[in-house]
Amino acid sequence: MLGLIMNRQLTITSIMEHARKFHGDAEVVSVTADQPLHRYTYREAFARSARLANALARLGILQGERIGTLAWNDYRHLEVYFATSCAGFVCHTINPRLFPEQIEYIVEHAEDRWLFVDPAFVPLLEALKHRLGCVEGFVILGPAGAAAKTTLRNAVDYETLIAGEPDTFDWPELDENSACAMCYTSGTTGNPKGVVYSHRALVLHTYACLMPDVMSLSAREVVMPVVPMFHVNAWSIPYGAAAVGAKLVFPGPKMGDGETLQRLIEGEGVTVTAGVPTVWLALLTHLDRTGKQVPSLRRVIVGGSACPRTIMEEFEHEHGVHVHHAWGMTEMSPMGTFNSPSADFDTLSSEEQWAQRLRVGRPVYGVEVKIVDAAGKELPWDGVSFGALKVRGPWICAEYFRIGKGDAHDDEGWFETGDVATIDRRGYVAITDRTKDVIKSGGEWISSIDLENTAVAHPAVAEAAVIGAYHPRWDERPLLCVVLHPGEQLTREEMLAWFEGKVAKWWVPDDVVFVDGLPHTATGKLSKKDLRERMKDYRFP
Ligand code: ADP
Repeated sequence: MLGLIMNRQLTITSIMEHARKFHGDAEVVSVTADQPLHRYTYREAFARSARLANALARLGILQGERIGTLAWNDYRHLEVYFATSCAGFVCHTINPRLFPEQIEYIVEHAEDRWLFVDPAFVPLLEALKHRLGCVEGFVILGPAGAAAKTTLRNAVDYETLIAGEPDTFDWPELDENSACAMCYTSGTTGNPKGVVYSHRALVLHTYACLMPDVMSLSAREVVMPVVPMFHVNAWSIPYGAAAVGAKLVFPGPKMGDGETLQRLIEGEGVTVTAGVPTVWLALLTHLDRTGKQVPSLRRVIVGGSACPRTIMEEFEHEHGVHVHHAWGMTEMSPMGTFNSPSADFDTLSSEEQWAQRLRVGRPVYGVEVKIVDAAGKELPWDGVSFGALKVRGPWICAEYFRIGKGDAHDDEGWFETGDVATIDRRGYVAITDRTKDVIKSGGEWISSIDLENTAVAHPAVAEAAVIGAYHPRWDERPLLCVVLHPGEQLTREEMLAWFEGKVAKWWVPDDVVFVDGLPHTATGKLSKKDLRERMKDYRFP
């Protein structure tokens, strides 16, 4: 027997329409390249999305076709998000920090028909314009005149494009399984792969993210996504904020600027923010240097790479801000796990509480997880056994665009994340490494992330990376590469002595190399691949 319930389609359009009707007065505040502080409401945002949808229809864009964006977080990008998805097109966000060859590959592979581009990225595209054959034209995300000087073909500025269009659009009834957005993985191995999100997946993901033990957004929160809108849809915050009517604050091109972030938090009363660990270092350093405060801020969501304990402690002890650690990936829309306290949290000792908080949290309802050994056998949830982390769920990528299932998809519908993890008895996951980065010392595994976290806890250390370097007896042994804070000094022996009693003896790195800087990927993560390349001739003493 079937249930007798209406089968309304779960679409991004339903989020937009709900926000327009019930949260039309909620504000969207942005820093953009052309305006220090732009302010309007969801009602105005969606009226302009309707104008853009009319303009795209006039350009002859068809259902399912891709519209690419290379843009920071601001209100025009938000309008593009909703206009494209709700009109039945696919919003393909592109990371502008990728290498030009990768951007070219991604645009061509996705066959983007038009590109919407922040003025700052115009030179980057001008250098590629003879190669982006599929792209009919470029929309410069700026005021009238913003496209005047570019040599990009069919260039038009955003404001002129939408100027004469009506404020309403006949939004189509879409199938919830149709595509609404697209994002490529960063391609740390091989070419980037396209993940195509469906309306249904992102609506379910939005519900999940809004839950109290997850992002817990509401009409009375002011949320500032510092995670870029090109990084897995800013972790779905634009959809979630619209669904509940939270005020949105966008830092535009000033994402990594501690001063702007502080000013926006204080000026706009930001209560929740989210981003990768490196941006919080910039904010905390600024607060430390200037003595400025973030009085309204209550919660920070940190993910994308491991959050060092020092960041959590500084936020909490100096600023009274609770840090939630979260984990996910492009293939997971991106939310996998989120750290909120367990029911018995208050009964735990301080060290047990920290042990729980440093984990990436429990799977958000909707996501299933398991860890398996090299033979595929499931491992126990004892907090110690570590193995390959597999996931499945209704917002997890089933296959890649024009590639099909990858090596990571197994026959039972599980997706192998490429991460190595432990799970404790309460279900809290800890990421111990990427499969490619784990150090294999004489057949045993050493977690490079644990060693890095231990190293950065040293007051003289600004950043650390551990890679496996060739060892004649053990195959690989850990090599620690360290960047010191300006003015600090530390010897190899002092650094190694720091590990004593903090990690197993056989985990202690065999050597330390002091470096001026470490390589990072386009999303600001440590690039171990580049570091390994840089250190390929290194031999242990
Ligand atoms: P990229 O394309 O740069 O890999 P993703 O956002 O898809 O971008 O990256 C996902 C990967 O980032 C995960 O598989 C994991 O290795 C890492 N990651 C994400 N969040 C965390 C976290 N909280 N702690 C440790 N690693 C994380």
